[in-house]
Amino acid sequence: MTTTHPDDRDPATPTPLEERLAHLIRTNGPITVADFMEDALFNPQDGYYTSGPGARASMNAQAGPIGAAGDFTTAPEISQVFGELIGLWLVQAWVDLGAPTPFNLIELGPGRGALMADALRAAKVRPAFIDAARVRLVEVSGRLRYEQQKRLADCAADIDWLDDFSRAPDGPTLVVANEFFDCLPVRQFVRTETSWRERMVALGPGEDAFAFSLAPAPPPPMTSLPDAAAPGDIYELCEPGEALAEAIGARLATEGGRALVIDYGHTRDGVGETLQAVRAHRFAPVLAAPGLSDLSAHVNFDRLIRAAFDAGAACHGPVAQGVFLDRLGLAARVERLTAGKSHDVAEAVRAGAFRIAASSQMGEIFKAICISAPGLSTPAGF
Ligand code: SAH
Repeated sequence: MTTTHPDDRDPATPTPLEERLAHLIRTNGPITVADFMEDALFNPQDGYYTSGPGARASMNAQAGPIGAAGDFTTAPEISQVFGELIGLWLVQAWVDLGAPTPFNLIELGPGRGALMADALRAAKVRPAFIDAARVRLVEVSGRLRYEQQKRLADCAADIDWLDDFSRAPDGPTLVVANEFFDCLPVRQFVRTETSWRERMVALGPGEDAFAFSLAPAPPPPMTSLPDAAAPGDIYELCEPGEALAEAIGARLATEGGRALVIDYGHTRDGVGETLQAVRAHRFAPVLAAPGLSDLSAHVNFDRLIRAAFDAGAACHGPVAQGVFLDRLGLAARVERLTAGKSHDVAEAVRAGAFRIAASSQMGEIFKAICISAPGLSTPAGF
């Protein structure tokens, strides 16, 4: 685990993004939490995911945000078994669709490309799958696109990049998204004695740091907020995530296909604050140093499923990640990978599998859902 960060920046010196956001707030008033998150993560010059190594001194120039040397690590970075089992899941989903040729294989937010590299390697058991796949990677970060290109350079499949899911070619489609929906911006609402109020980001006293404030008036009635809440409760609403789930559901319902979404989150809609900042594998204050730490919020699977369902799709899950991987054959895969290997190699494989699947680790908090064209069989693992 990384305990020190390559950036030894004086925390009192504002970053360019902090200066711009402070100027914006001074001029126009407080901004929503979603607007803050959007700029902190995706600002073209200084966003956490979007800025290049030259533009951002804080990020480990070699490692980028993801992986052991970066700020946070993900299941496909921890164990190759994760991507391999998903590769086999994708082959099965393709068979469930009647093995269409060609078909779109879309990954949302592929990070460093580990999941897709492992999945395509495992999917070689069905060469026709690789031949039929138009692999399309939806990635906002130029720097991560470059990493993905390097990682997938040896793959025989037809691979290209898209700015947006809506740009995917027509036709049957399989989608995979791991730890993608959690970085889509959330709005936050605070329950007061009398009504909901949107939580805003303002400048604190002295104007040298950001601070939360409340919008002066309640949100418009069409904002979808729960009735059951007590004063002080916080509710998070991820509008881009719900819009995307709806778009995926609508496309799969008309063109055919399945989507596998894995993320950390809750299965029931309800109040609770989950927005968090992570830097160098540690939690950091949410409003400090925008652009230099990863911001994410728990995924509200209940609302994603509802959005996809309303668009005409069938939905399965959520299933805990550990259960899902177990049903896909985690134990057998680990046994194959460890057979005849040295003690150290076998231990490393087992430790990785334990981390992604044990309920004390990532196996319970991370969950999988599947959005499907209606009328298909139950997907593997659900
Ligand atoms: N799936 C990877 C990486 C997760 S990090 C893994 O499991 O390791 C989130 C990824 O989504 C990054 O690649 C980030 O650049 C990308 N991303 C975030 N928001 C995006 C958006 N709106 N459009 C496209 N890519 C996005």
